[in-house]
Amino acid sequence: MVGADQIRDQLDRILERRTADTRLTTMGAGSDDLDDGRAYLAATVDGGWHVPTWPSEHGGRGADADEAGLIGGILRSYVVPDLYPFAIGLGMVGPALLAHGTEEQQHRWLRPIAAGTEIWCQMFSEPEAGSDLANVGLRAVRDGDEWVLTGQKTWTSRAMWAEWGICLARTAPDQPKHKGLTMFVIRMDAPGVEVRPLGQMNGDTHFSEVFVDGARVGDDWRVGDEGEGWRVAMTILAHERAGGGSRGGGDGAAKESALPTWIADLIPSGAASDPVWRDVIARIQIHDLVARWTARRAADEARGGGTPSPAGSGAKLRSVQSYKSRAYSTNRAVGAEGMLTSGHGYIETITAPSMSIRGGTDEIQRNILGERVLGLAGEPRLDRDVPWSESRKGVI
Ligand SMILES: Cc1cc2nc3c(=O)[nH]c(=O)nc-3n(C[C@H](O)[C@H](O)[C@H](O)COP(=O)(O)OP(=O)(O)OC[C@H]3O[C@@H](n4cnc5c(N)ncnc54)[C@H](O)[C@@H]3O)c2cc1C
Repeated sequence: MVGADQIRDQLDRILERRTADTRLTTMGAGSDDLDDGRAYLAATVDGGWHVPTWPSEHGGRGADADEAGLIGGILRSYVVPDLYPFAIGLGMVGPALLAHGTEEQQHRWLRPIAAGTEIWCQMFSEPEAGSDLANVGLRAVRDGDEWVLTGQKTWTSRAMWAEWGICLARTAPDQPKHKGLTMFVIRMDAPGVEVRPLGQMNGDTHFSEVFVDGARVGDDWRVGDEGEGWRVAMTILAHERAGGGSRGGGDGAAKESALPTWIADLIPSGAASDPVWRDVIARIQIHDLVARWTARRAADEARGGGTPSPAGSGAKLRSVQSYKSRAYSTNRAVGAEGMLTSGHGYIETITAPSMSIRGGTDEIQRNILGERVLGLAGEPRLDRDVPWSESRKGVI
């Protein structure tokens, strides 16, 4: 295993060390500058620094969990731009291709993800399939060696930047809803694919509706077996909930041993020296650290493959709580300035509600924890064994 000094020595050659003044943008919150992320990934791919556990031929360095943890910790003291646009590829699709993809698929798609040359989006949700994701209705019909895809996806983050989409589709409507699904990769500029951006209240416009009308996908772009789409989707969601789909890079905090940037930012307002605010700040910081450690544990479990455990749901709930309390408190602590669009914590405050929705809502995470950890009674699931084509949809 490579030592800490060697890692620093190599990273010093390609990256800038972070200083107390280093600030980061909050992508996925009103900013869509892709260049810094592309430059960082181009610089780190040959050493396999950003995705160290991936095989070296795919842009990683074949590191074990200990080495990856060491590298991740050291990377925090360098300027790592916000990698939000690249996070679905790096944090969700990459691990899913390693778990379920063919060698050819891994060879085709992994290195461009690690190098930042190709962006991915996640085409799961539909107007009638959000929390009830297994209700996906976008149809894929086989035609020789190809599949013809038709239907609508919605809330597709990053679709307007993406070259590729990972798309959950219905291949067997006569099967019960979880069983008739298959996962495909689709080119976002293919004939029949139309991306219509939606504006969010924080200024983001990369969040889109995607209309698919007869788009063709080769059978070699199917990920996992026919009818195994739910299993692949669960792998992707386990990584998303463990934090793989979030900002995926610099996280706005300085080294864990130094004063975090968000607290340093509060010093001019006087909040950091007020005893009541100091108490609030300390509590948030403790929750934030616990959230990160929970996320790391969930990410390790997700990397182990197999059936995703509920750890990701716990990690997601904690990280949402931590993000919200940081955003709202920072915004309140600076007083009237917090109402300005340029004010501390403003963008984070208007982005925060969406954190409880993306990747599965807080209620759904609590349902999972209630059933799988606490052993509470399950939800009534009357349509579980009924063919999807015969189940009632859009009915409350
Ligand atoms: C910023 C953002 C980015 C997103 N990015 C993507 C993306 O890139 N790709 C993608 O595929 N999707 C994406 N989504 C979609 C997201 O996964 C869904 O919005 C989410 O799963 C909820 O689905 P829904 O919006 O259809 O709400 P619904 O499922 O209609 O839920 C409405 C309300 O009912 C509650 N509810 C529903 N069922 C239950 C239940 N069984 N028990 C208790 N409460 C319940 C929910 O918690 C929620 O409060 C994104 C969403 C947001 C906000």
